[in-house]
Amino acid sequence: MSLFFVSHETCRLHRAPSSHPECPERLQAIEQALDRSSLGQRVVRLQACPANREQLERVHAPEYLDLVEASMPPPGQWDMLDTGDTYLCEHSLEAARLAAGAVVMAVDRVMETPGSTAFCSVRPPGHHAGRRFGMGFCLFNNVAVGAAHAMAVHGLTRVAIVDFDVHHGNGTEDIFRHEPRVLLCSSFQHPLYPGTGADTRSDHILNLPLHAGTDGPALRSAMKARWLPVLEDFAPQLVMVSAGFDAHVDDPLASFRLVEADYAELTEMIMDLACRYSRGRVVSVLEGGYDLPALGRGVLVHLKVLAGGELV
Ligand SMILES: [Zn+2]
Repeated sequence: MSLFFVSHETCRLHRAPSSHPECPERLQAIEQALDRSSLGQRVVRLQACPANREQLERVHAPEYLDLVEASMPPPGQWDMLDTGDTYLCEHSLEAARLAAGAVVMAVDRVMETPGSTAFCSVRPPGHHAGRRFGMGFCLFNNVAVGAAHAMAVHGLTRVAIVDFDVHHGNGTEDIFRHEPRVLLCSSFQHPLYPGTGADTRSDHILNLPLHAGTDGPALRSAMKARWLPVLEDFAPQLVMVSAGFDAHVDDPLASFRLVEADYAELTEMIMDLACRYSRGRVVSVLEGGYDLPALGRGVLVHLKVLAGGELV
């Protein structure tokens, strides 16, 4: 089976004026981990194309897209899209279009190639970006752009998004709040940034707020109890993943206690679901993960399972 690895070097040009956890070195850590593994020879590398306006407008308001374009600073300067943490440099718009376009490309390839999966190694991340806002390091909601593309172009009517980033996928929830063709499952530490999601009541948005200190076995058993029966009833035609690796025990921004083996087991659960309902189709998209060694190792075990086994 094929594992597509979609990225673009320009995603590394988006950077903050000073030290910041969401940094270009994150993608480098993933590349290095992949290059040191035999898997590096087996993935099919694809160069992302930028998402176009029509693809972005499926999930973002035109006024918001205009605002991002108008906010781009001149070369050598920086701007902020919200207070404090969502910065813009001269390359940010291009990087954000490529990050969203990578997911569109991944959806197309996985839909066209039986038995394939894809991982988008992109930044800026996306799951905090809503229909009319960017926040939490996120400009465009990459996974949402891909899910909307899968529905609009491939005619899918049941797309599951599993978000195991340690933060609530509030932007994805905002975008698909009234879209029952998407089943969104988001697990997150609560309370923690952005502070949303614990009181959501919806048939197609399954939030799983868990306390600081949650480890892999506790997270998996909560997912199996709360998500799996609904996911099985939903029978997704495509499984998408907001793959954040900031629930790792070494991550500086949160206090979950996952280790590499937990990411392998989470990914096995997702692959098992996809094999039973979605012809094995999985499109996974990088979100958070701020301890560089843990990010590299976590993505590598995730990729090994997406590639069809061969666990570390
Ligand atoms: Zn996160």
